[in-house]
Amino acid sequence: MKVLKFGGSSVATSESILKVKSIVQSQDDVVVVVVSALGGVTDELVRIAALAESADASYLEKLQALRKRHVDACDELVGSGKDGKLLRLAVDSLLNELDSICRGVFLLKVLPEKSRDQILSYGERLSSLIVTAAVGHAELYDSLDFIRMDEGHVDFERTNKLVAEKFAGYGDNSPVAIVPGFIARDGAGDIVTLGRGGSDYTASILASALDASVLEIWTDVDGFMSADPRIIKTSYVIDELTYEEATELCNFGAKVVYPPTLYPVCQKKIPIRVKNTFNPEAPGTLIHEGGANPEGRVIKGISSIDNISLITLSATSLVGIIGVDQRIFTALASESINVFLVSQSASETGISLGVSASDAEKACKVLSKTFASEIASGAVYPVKREDELAAIAIVGENMKHHCGIAGKLFSILGRNGISIIACAQGASESNISFVVEREYLRKSLNVIHEGFFLSEYQELNLFICGVGTVGGQLIEQIALQQDKLKRRRSLKINVVGIARSSKAVFDRGGIDLAHWKEALAEGMPITLARLREEVLGMNIFNSVFVDCTASADVSTLYEDFFNHGISVVAANKIAASSEYQNYRNLKKTARRRGVKFLFETNVGAGLPIINTINSLRNSGDHVQKIEAVLSGTLNFIFNTISKDIPFSETVRMAKEQGFSEPDPRIDLSGKDVVRKLVILSREAGYEVNQEDVVAEPFIPQEFFDCSLDEFWKKLPSLDAEFERQRQQLEKEHKHWRFVAKMDDGKYTVSLRTFDEHHSFYSLDGSNNIVLLTTERYHDHPMLIQGYGAGASVTAAGVFADIISIANVTN
Ligand code: ADP
Ligand code: ASP
Ligand code: MG
Repeated sequence: MKVLKFGGSSVATSESILKVKSIVQSQDDVVVVVVSALGGVTDELVRIAALAESADASYLEKLQALRKRHVDACDELVGSGKDGKLLRLAVDSLLNELDSICRGVFLLKVLPEKSRDQILSYGERLSSLIVTAAVGHAELYDSLDFIRMDEGHVDFERTNKLVAEKFAGYGDNSPVAIVPGFIARDGAGDIVTLGRGGSDYTASILASALDASVLEIWTDVDGFMSADPRIIKTSYVIDELTYEEATELCNFGAKVVYPPTLYPVCQKKIPIRVKNTFNPEAPGTLIHEGGANPEGRVIKGISSIDNISLITLSATSLVGIIGVDQRIFTALASESINVFLVSQSASETGISLGVSASDAEKACKVLSKTFASEIASGAVYPVKREDELAAIAIVGENMKHHCGIAGKLFSILGRNGISIIACAQGASESNISFVVEREYLRKSLNVIHEGFFLSEYQELNLFICGVGTVGGQLIEQIALQQDKLKRRRSLKINVVGIARSSKAVFDRGGIDLAHWKEALAEGMPITLARLREEVLGMNIFNSVFVDCTASADVSTLYEDFFNHGISVVAANKIAASSEYQNYRNLKKTARRRGVKFLFETNVGAGLPIINTINSLRNSGDHVQKIEAVLSGTLNFIFNTISKDIPFSETVRMAKEQGFSEPDPRIDLSGKDVVRKLVILSREAGYEVNQEDVVAEPFIPQEFFDCSLDEFWKKLPSLDAEFERQRQQLEKEHKHWRFVAKMDDGKYTVSLRTFDEHHSFYSLDGSNNIVLLTTERYHDHPMLIQGYGAGASVTAAGVFADIISIANVTN
């Protein structure tokens, strides 16, 4: 025999009740069917009771809507024939009873526990009547006749006996037994309920009493999921769980099975299968005794309880105070307060208890009363209460076979800027539970889910600031790669924010990159402060701020981002070349917070220069000298200048082809190369500022003191002198190169000439070249060469930095 339980979502509408009917009718085995109230009806009854109690006559409208919903279901499922009329009579009679009880509550303005339970019971009493009629060849078995409660607990002895009597002779040819879940009678014969979600419990009690072969919980998801699917989009169905694992997850808020359900079936080793009414072919989740499978996943699932409070009792030492724990738990039990989590320090100076927010007030009161004399004498501090918290549990029996799970958990949280307020590990080592601030709940669940490889893929959430040539290209490249990265690297890149100077668009679900321009055009107006607020406010896990601007203002945000667990990838050179102390400080903050600050494209666009210097240093090498041609713009200019193309024209071409800064004078002055030399030298371990670099100008100062317009006008006046020098170089077989050099504590940038014997001689187009002389690469310096400018290689470099962050979050 099987016991099938259909939850509220499975019987919410006439269509879903027809699905239930077909599932029931397709069973080979003898089945007993337990049903919940139509989806949402119990919540509605709770509201109606509360309105009536506060003498609010609007309860009548709600009651009327409830009546209509049930009557409509009768009409749709059974019609108006003889069966339909009989059903309507029974349903009307129950609804009339409900009306009278509610009216009583409305008039008396009191809602005793018993009346509340009675009101709530009508949900299942009505649904079971309707389902019985809808399924056909079925009979209603009223659980009020056989589920017995005694002082808030199921009286299993009596219940089992009554069930046995009621179901004696139930078998192959009997009409299908349909049983209302959730309701029972107490010792006095009054109607009581088994607690919210209690239909699962009814089904379990029956399965145990009838020695069923399996208890099937039919709901609206494909099974027990690795995390609450409403919060974690990437959660997936768990194939199997042990009773212990399921208990831990359910006790910690996994709503899919009501926690007491596990006990009766576990006692008899009856397996539970969680199935989806709306996708009956899916295998669902098997909860059973199971043997430990050390090969299996370490963490099976994560669950959480939103809105809890932490109550702390502390003293310089609780050791001398007799029976503290017993007094605490007796006091809390006397008020029926459920404690989710207990965290006690080894020195016994304090104990923290996680309780639901609605119990916090009561818990404080009862503990203050229990320890009144100790508090008065100063032996115990006044009871402390912290609100707006959430508790999370990670569960898996295999944790006991693996070291370092807690370490990994805490480092994942720490890296994402989430601090743990209290934590506890059960002695069974199949559960680690901890408390975080409520606003961090969603983010915590996401990072843990991903961190323990629960997700099919890892996620990286990007805020892209600046959509000029580099930013725009980057978005296009991401759009092209998104799919491939997901398939091949299991990496899901979401662009959750795009900003330009005055507008921004944010979407935590990921902006559709096929239409990012339209989305941005319709975005919100943005200021620097607003940008900061939005990025921090989204509080999203694994996030990276990508700065593709050249803005000093934007670079002032990095530190705040690091402090909130957000990595920064900057094409913007300002921060890395700013005052040395600021640069150091940013790098230190990022390291301390466990996030990344990457700016490979600050020098040589996509060429791996900074990465190479870092690798050399990390492996114990020491960079002694740097010589480099780092300005793609200047190299382009000096490679393009010819008898037909004068100097001024080459500058214009560099600008038009996107090789130069918007104001090309930043390139011509050597300022950009100074910044790059400073960045490389710093990365090589030298403490240097821009003022320490001697820059030898190769065009007169007046060109830098005027406006940009005037500059363009005046520029051709330099052409003749450049042509003279060019002809001279041609004769000598030499080339111009604008060189940055760090050697022996001296930093220079200057225009120099090289003959064909030097590696700088043949350097095409806008290419860059870097020669690194190190302790290991001494006689033959290391040479890095390639495209050093251009939107697409720079964007690709930024992209590579982003991907390397995904590697560290693994
Ligand atoms: P029913 O009405 O069938 O009793 P419930 O609403 O009580 O259904 O429970 C099913 C719901 O539980 C799912 O729709 C899902 O949103 C929620 N849920 C929370 N945590 C989990 C989890 N770990 N696995 C599956 N569902 C979960
Ligand atoms: N109808 C009850 C509730 O909503 C019981 C259940 O659905 O399991 O809590
Ligand atoms: Mg339920």
